[in-house]
Amino acid sequence: MSPRFALMIVPADVADDRTDFSDTFTAVDPSAPALSVGELSTQRGDGVFESIGVIDGHAQETEPHLQRLAHSAKLCDLPAPNLEQWRQAVERAAGECGPGESVIKLILSRGVEHGPAPTAWATAAGAPDFTAVRRDGIRVVTLDRGYDLGAGERAPWLLLGAKTLSYAVNMAALREARRRGADDAIFVTSDGYVLEAPTASLIIRSGDRFLTPAPSGGILHGTTQLSVYEHLEKQGFDAEYTTLSASDLAKADAAWLVSSVRLAAPITAVDGVPLPTDPDFTASLNDYLLSPR
Ligand code: PLP
Repeated sequence: MSPRFALMIVPADVADDRTDFSDTFTAVDPSAPALSVGELSTQRGDGVFESIGVIDGHAQETEPHLQRLAHSAKLCDLPAPNLEQWRQAVERAAGECGPGESVIKLILSRGVEHGPAPTAWATAAGAPDFTAVRRDGIRVVTLDRGYDLGAGERAPWLLLGAKTLSYAVNMAALREARRRGADDAIFVTSDGYVLEAPTASLIIRSGDRFLTPAPSGGILHGTTQLSVYEHLEKQGFDAEYTTLSASDLAKADAAWLVSSVRLAAPITAVDGVPLPTDPDFTASLNDYLLSPR
């Protein structure tokens, strides 16, 4: 959905310890042009971002999102973001969201070619209605990622653990999934391990154990997965990081794709083969994810 609020941010130095950053924010018309044509975010996808779920004006899991923004910036050799400044930008954008579900995006770009500084902005928009998908689930197909499990650690310049603006590949994978009659995709390494979806993390249930692929395998560490794990551990479940093969997924007792805005979507089929679901458990997961976190 198109943003209903946009805030340009003059990025502060990471060491700037003032308590009020409001004079570094300028609210702009979200439907008017705001970026220079020399922007490297638009020319090369050179920048990092976060999408934060907002429920009734409360931004969910702000701290893990800010920590991941800083981690992505570090992997991309971008100046370290001043987290207090971004925290205040999130609060400001959340204040514009109103009732219901919304999404705040934070963007930190390399800036203008040969320009003095990175460019930064935040937007707020209404979120799509995911009620049905959270209940009825999604069919997924597995798609070759083209890398082996060690690529992330062996080749850090691939930026596999950073949430960069270069999402053209992720969007292409979603289109391929739809061409194959599915709703979403799960990337698989060339050596046969399942990783993540183009915009979500994978969690599977095997008996009373919950398993997710370890972020060291060149995937994004999902804030929703982290939050679900905290919740599961409080309930006494084992929640572990591991390597998962495509056949582990096929044998799962249940599986979900989890992400900040869609929340927990139960997987109903993998490559056309039905997977068991647990509607009551899924409903309780989404109740938790919809509560203030
Ligand atoms: N993996 C990828 C590639 C993503 O793009 C996302 C979110 O967009 C996730 C996982 C899930 O992350 P989060 O739970 O923080 O939304």
